[in-house]
Amino acid sequence: MSATLKHNFGAGPCILPQTVLQRAAEAVKRWDSIGLSILEISHRSPEFESVVKETEMLIRELLNIPDDYSVLFLQGGASMQFCMVPMNFLQGSKKEAAYLDAGYFGVKAIKEAQLFGKVNVIGSSKDAGYTHLPEDYTIPEDAAYFHYTSNNTIEGTQMWGALKSHVPVVCDMSSDIFSREIDVSQFDLIYAGAQKNTGPAGLTIVIAKNQFLDSVKHPVPSMLDYRIYRDNGSMYNTPPVFSIYTAMLNLQWLKETGGVKFIAKENLAKAQLLYDEIDRNPLFKGTAAREHRSLMNVTFRMENPVDEANFLTYAAKSGMVGIKGYRTIGGFRASLYNALPYESVKALVGCMQAYAETVVPFQSTY
Ligand SMILES: *Cc1c(COP(=O)(O)O)cnc(C)c1O
Repeated sequence: MSATLKHNFGAGPCILPQTVLQRAAEAVKRWDSIGLSILEISHRSPEFESVVKETEMLIRELLNIPDDYSVLFLQGGASMQFCMVPMNFLQGSKKEAAYLDAGYFGVKAIKEAQLFGKVNVIGSSKDAGYTHLPEDYTIPEDAAYFHYTSNNTIEGTQMWGALKSHVPVVCDMSSDIFSREIDVSQFDLIYAGAQKNTGPAGLTIVIAKNQFLDSVKHPVPSMLDYRIYRDNGSMYNTPPVFSIYTAMLNLQWLKETGGVKFIAKENLAKAQLLYDEIDRNPLFKGTAAREHRSLMNVTFRMENPVDEANFLTYAAKSGMVGIKGYRTIGGFRASLYNALPYESVKALVGCMQAYAETVVPFQSTY
């Protein structure tokens, strides 16, 4: 291993707490509950059934989920939800589904929904390159449901206000679930791929109002039917055992650390530190509209594009990992998920300042 301490700003899969990694690694060798590796035990064993139960309890507790909601463990990533949602709630309906076009993942969700029925894109910020969230849209009162992404992982924008809607609200919360307090009762279905605040890849969490699930009247293939997961305790088939186990460890860590309310404050402090530097340092500029800036994924560029490759190399030497912007967008993206320490943001800011000292000003305005 290299001597340089790594600061992991990866967008997903992303950083997990060291203690979680250690405990997960131990369980791979020998899980004390059974005396075998967590990788080789039956998902039907009572010991693993208690893992599933505890994980669900932790999710319910951390997000304060009302009793009339189910918590489900699925696979296929958030991307599977792009088709599973319309397959269940749009297919066969005479209604349209209302979607917000606010970024890369929302676009993918729209594309899948169009396979199952009519999609009404009620707001878009495409023309602005998704640098801000769509504004001035209304949710039609007769929509089958309204779908949006709470945090645009690639573009670095985040939806803050609670959306009032007369129709069921479906939200892709993959990249900001557990990062801040939410009022679950405002939503009918929340989904999130696990690999950005919950645990390792391979698990998808769905939180759904039972009444909404029961509104589905047409047949759906079993593995794509939410009710099958609910009615079988997410054990209709073999669930991702190791991912669920590690998610449990991570959610235990979150609870012990102080829960969502506490971590939200930490996340705000981390984002503020980095945005302040971006705004202060003449070499850098933020790419998302200030009022829509994400606390999870901070996107930025350099005033002089020539500097970008140089800064990337410079930052890598100081241990910064995963700050390259998404392949289609370029620039930089620093993801500040729950497990990323404040110290890592300080290190990145230090690196930006140190780099600025090495650069000969290319504009007289410096
Ligand atoms: C990462 C991400 C996805 C894609 O998740 P997969 O688990 O890879 O399918 C979808 N939506 C958002 C908001 C994401 O951040």
